[in-house]
Amino acid sequence: MKGGWFILLIFLFDFNTPSIAQSSFGKEPYLVVLGTLQDGGSPHLGCEKDCCKTIDPDKKVVSLGMIDPVNGKRFLFEATPDITSQLKSLNQVLPGQKGYAPDGIFLTHAHIGHYAGLMFMGREAMNSKEVPVYAMPKMKMYLEGNGPWSQLVALNNIQIKPLSEGKWENISPTLKVKPMLVPHRDEYSETVGYIIEGPHKKILFIPDIDKWEKWRTDIVSLIKEVDHALIDGTFFSAAEVGNRNIAEIPHPLVQESLALFDSLPTKEKEKIIFIHFNHTNPLLDEKSDASKQLQLGGFKRATPNMRIHL
Ligand SMILES: [Zn+2]
Ligand SMILES: [Zn+2]
Ligand SMILES: [Zn+2]
Repeated sequence: MKGGWFILLIFLFDFNTPSIAQSSFGKEPYLVVLGTLQDGGSPHLGCEKDCCKTIDPDKKVVSLGMIDPVNGKRFLFEATPDITSQLKSLNQVLPGQKGYAPDGIFLTHAHIGHYAGLMFMGREAMNSKEVPVYAMPKMKMYLEGNGPWSQLVALNNIQIKPLSEGKWENISPTLKVKPMLVPHRDEYSETVGYIIEGPHKKILFIPDIDKWEKWRTDIVSLIKEVDHALIDGTFFSAAEVGNRNIAEIPHPLVQESLALFDSLPTKEKEKIIFIHFNHTNPLLDEKSDASKQLQLGGFKRATPNMRIHL
């Protein structure tokens, strides 16, 4: 190949093009989906089934980035084991004022997919400086009282910002976040979902919850109060669980949620976006019957790099 042509081709196929393009919302804040999977990710350790035959770099554990372009702020919901590539993606969306560290990390609970990524803030990796980590009281105590997390606190790699149930946290002139306790297997911490409010929209984020009927809050009424709801879609149906006792993993099955939301008008159904998919979940495949059924019903599934206006 002649040199000139080669250089032209390099320009045509810009190898440095970020996986996430620049904002299409101008100066408005928005959320970007940085991961859609359940804690164990995909490929799931030990899975020999078709779902984990190949390695797909877009399959990452559940996480949201939150961008405030005017104030130059970038926040993260969840610190997943995939945090390294997720912070890289976030930096491609909006470069941080102080490098890769986000301006805050909101944690939902102490299950590996949701907080274990904090380890990369430590000396062995980023050695970050005072990254604000927003946590509920038990989560805060757990991090402060147990290594290796306590070392992140002692060395000021992270700075824990306490949250209280139902109390709004103003994090930028245009963004606020409110934690809501939800029922879940709370071995080391309580579990929360979040309401995220921007200048135009309110978003509900509940990646993990036990059955809806165990919650004091009525999810159907709550959906009416928000503009979008990113909710637990771990398993589509009981068929995925195999030999494991479903009582040990009591998520609302997507099929059950669809039945619960069936009577809602289309306008409400369109707000609902399922996320936190187990590696076995057919909703990970846009061509599956489950994905088609979801779409026909007017519901959505979260996909990598999906953006939601705030
Ligand atoms: Zn989870
Ligand atoms: Zn699998
Ligand atoms: Zn969990």
